[in-house]
Amino acid sequence: MPLWGGIEAGGTKFVCAVGTGPDDLRAQVRFPTTTPDDSIGRAIEFFERQQQEKEPLAGVGIASFGPVDPNPDSPTFGYITTTPKSGWAHTDLAGTVRRALRVPVGFDTDVNGAALGERRWGAARGLDTFVYLTVGTGIGGGGMVGGKLIHGLLHPEMGHFRIPHDRERDPFDGVCPYHGDCLEGLATGPALEARWGRPGEKLPVHHPAWELEADYLALGVVSIICILSPQRVILGGGVMKQRHLFPLVRRRVQELLNGYLHAPAILDRIDDYVVPPALGSRAGVLGAIALARHHS
Ligand code: ZN
Repeated sequence: MPLWGGIEAGGTKFVCAVGTGPDDLRAQVRFPTTTPDDSIGRAIEFFERQQQEKEPLAGVGIASFGPVDPNPDSPTFGYITTTPKSGWAHTDLAGTVRRALRVPVGFDTDVNGAALGERRWGAARGLDTFVYLTVGTGIGGGGMVGGKLIHGLLHPEMGHFRIPHDRERDPFDGVCPYHGDCLEGLATGPALEARWGRPGEKLPVHHPAWELEADYLALGVVSIICILSPQRVILGGGVMKQRHLFPLVRRRVQELLNGYLHAPAILDRIDDYVVPPALGSRAGVLGAIALARHHS
């Protein structure tokens, strides 16, 4: 089996690895995301060294923070486009790596990368329509419909669903700079912290924060279920490390759907329907390797 490279390009850190899959990661490096020249340069150096020490790479996959341009027919394919992250707007990430290493480069959003990794090795094996929603410093969604990674005009922005917001129960305005109280504005990690005055990991299990959080996430999940009819919904990201959220979200999803969807997966087996990712903290970089294999 040929050797592949993967770059998990995050807003705060880069993780680069070479290997073929979860049981065969042969080298890995991580470093903070600084400037494009520095961070992309370090990634290229790592792969050049790996190629000298091991064998030529068959391809590199990049799963990137965004917004990005994932359309292969676009002149700015592989770019990070309009990000507010200082210095990174209009950065040709995929092209720079491809020209330096002279290998095929697969490129997609971080969530589509993670979704693809989960499909190859994790919680979405055997499925052709599923969603991976990450709930962390932001909320983003990716996944597949009919075996194809979801793309469109741009790429889906599942975090920015408008959801019902009962201001008597929750007067918090929300943190989304564009919409205020969209799903991301109400339910992301920074929203939890701003509303309750401390980060999620410091809120006790029985704090009312979690019931509210589960309600918002379930509203998002139910909208996604009604639109895409996924065979499974994977909830990842930092906030979902609070595993006690899962039973709350599952119950609320069932309540909101109110028996309308006659699917045993939802009615009887929801524990296997709304699930955490199986690849854990390696999902990002494994997703990038899956992208390399997918596109080469
Ligand atoms: Zn928003």
